[in-house]
Amino acid sequence: MPTANQYDVVIVGGGAAGIATASSILRRAPNLSVAIVEPADQHYYQPGWTMVGAGVFSAHTTARSMASLIPKLATWVQAAVTTLDPSNHALDLSNGSNIKYEYLVVCPGLKLNWSGVEGLEDNLGRNGVTSNYAYDVAPYTWDLVQNLKSGKALFTQPPMPIKCAGAPQKALYLSADHWTRQGVIRNIDISFYTSTPGLFGVAHYVPALMKYIEKYDAALHFQHTLTKIDGQLKVATFKNNDGEFMESEFDMIHVCPPQCAPEFIRQSPLANADGWVDVDQETLQSTGFENVWSLGDVISAPNAKTAAAVRAQAPIVANNLLAYAGHSSGISHYDGYGSCPLTVERGKIVLAEFGYGGKLLPSFPKWLIDGQYPSVLAWLLKAQALPWIYWNAMLKGREWLVKPKSQS
Ligand SMILES: Cc1cc2nc3c(=O)[nH]c(=O)nc-3n(C[C@H](O)[C@H](O)[C@H](O)COP(=O)(O)OP(=O)(O)OC[C@H]3O[C@@H](n4cnc5c(N)ncnc54)[C@H](O)[C@@H]3O)c2cc1C
Repeated sequence: MPTANQYDVVIVGGGAAGIATASSILRRAPNLSVAIVEPADQHYYQPGWTMVGAGVFSAHTTARSMASLIPKLATWVQAAVTTLDPSNHALDLSNGSNIKYEYLVVCPGLKLNWSGVEGLEDNLGRNGVTSNYAYDVAPYTWDLVQNLKSGKALFTQPPMPIKCAGAPQKALYLSADHWTRQGVIRNIDISFYTSTPGLFGVAHYVPALMKYIEKYDAALHFQHTLTKIDGQLKVATFKNNDGEFMESEFDMIHVCPPQCAPEFIRQSPLANADGWVDVDQETLQSTGFENVWSLGDVISAPNAKTAAAVRAQAPIVANNLLAYAGHSSGISHYDGYGSCPLTVERGKIVLAEFGYGGKLLPSFPKWLIDGQYPSVLAWLLKAQALPWIYWNAMLKGREWLVKPKSQS
């Protein structure tokens, strides 16, 4: 028999956004009853997977048990949400029960649509087919890179929006850097196939990236979408914007899978026409239901889908929800901040930080880190500081540099 539970705040998803938001809410209002609905046992620091694929991090350092991260004052409901019923302030769970709430925060991330490319699921993790977008497979990227001494290496990027839009090319740069250091780069034919019309969405960073594309002699194929992989023959098929198909052989292929909103979100009254949770892009409040907020990869807002964005969004959602609930005053506004540390070589990063409309939002003065140039300091930030900040500040509700400013 289904049972009904009632909480002040229910948070859907215990990923980067869910844990950070729960912590930020409970730091402000420890007396509220907060439940996190999350089916998974493990929580992943996904930004680390690029480093796993380049042999810099071990995979296990990017995973922690969910139980160790759920804030002590929150209740963990270990189940998946199957249906959202915002008109009745309720949701259904995979274990047959349902939950009621006063306020809802929706952050189940996005769906990696591995089946969106024919043959991808069957070959992932073998036959030279890899992806840093999967915890179990990212180490295989590094195996392939180390073993490739000559041949064809392909790197692909699907249509936007995707999480961390820089990650597909980061895999290319770090692989090519390894081949350069091993002295085999001249024997390896590198291609980047992307559905997008350019290398990166914000023009400011493109010249620095192009220098590395030239250095590694990588061929760029814009507006080409991966449609099929034949693992036995080692052939990838692409479709260009004119609807023409072309094939390329490969010795290794790094695939970034197509991405979309989770099915239960697409089916819910919270979704926009494309399936994402429709929010006011500044307050992150649902456009249709005023006691609902959303953040992270699942939202409709046109920011870069990154953990860096979540770090800025979580305190804003906490603040705005509590202001609506009468526990504080003043609304905060999100400026679209997101960041993409482009690992152009081992030890150097082009640090892209920008908000809505591609507005540059650097965190550091130019003399320290200038996003137009590769930076050693930015590498140290990614390799050492950011994982620490993620686990020890962001997920604990310590809002360093991202304290929301309230406006009444
Ligand atoms: C290869 C790679 C490289 C990246 N690099 C960077 C980077 O350098 N910098 C950066 O800032 N970001 C980077 N990111 C992006 C970053 O990891 C995401 O943007 C961030 O994790 C989004 O947080 P989220 O909470 O929205 O989603 P997630 O962290 O994915 O969490 C979603 C959670 O919701 C849960 N869930 C799913 N369905 C349900 C359901 N039905 N009911 C309840 N719970 C559910 C999931 O189990 C999961 O725990 C990278 C990502 C990848 C994959």
